[in-house]
Amino acid sequence: FSSNSLYTSHLSLGFFFFFGFIGIMFQDITTLLLDHKAFKYTVDIFVDRYRDMGISVVAGVEARGFMFGPSIALAIGAKFVPLRKPKKLPGEVISEKYELEYGTDCLEMHLGAVQPRERVLVIDDLVATGGTLSAAIRLLERVGAEVVECACVIGLPEVKGESRLNGKPLYVLVEPR
Ligand code: AMP
Repeated sequence: FSSNSLYTSHLSLGFFFFFGFIGIMFQDITTLLLDHKAFKYTVDIFVDRYRDMGISVVAGVEARGFMFGPSIALAIGAKFVPLRKPKKLPGEVISEKYELEYGTDCLEMHLGAVQPRERVLVIDDLVATGGTLSAAIRLLERVGAEVVECACVIGLPEVKGESRLNGKPLYVLVEPR
């Protein structure tokens, strides 16, 4: 991965925007989307990994999971299912709450979008505490689906998100220091 100078320069130069007032380093993937070669390179890594794993559903977490999920789904021949914030989906939904540092949030999925025993890849831009991905896993398992793996472009290993994923594997492309 690091041998690709085009891509690594995008990561190091374009990814970071500092929220000084709350001390959180916001990892911004939108600069990656500006370069179609870097974007394609990123999507292709996921596609190469997941194309032969019998995955029929790519479930993307709102909002930045929507930027990678559909491209991966098209390339591996899977459907894309959005996991949305509350009250965005028009049909009947199931909901799963999760804890934030201050308060709670919720993900929703259309009932019937995923069938029992379907094999699912969950995708988001970034994993920090793992709370969002763990809610996505619970949501999918409640309808009888099998979550094969969670994948993110960025992982923050210092907050150990993988430990909250109920044993599900986590695949990340970069871990900024
Ligand atoms: P978590 O549930 O703590 O793993 O947080 C992951 C979710 O929050 C993802 O949907 C990310 O888009 C967002 N997120 C959390 N921390 C950051 C960060 N430092 N930079 C960008 N997005 C973040």
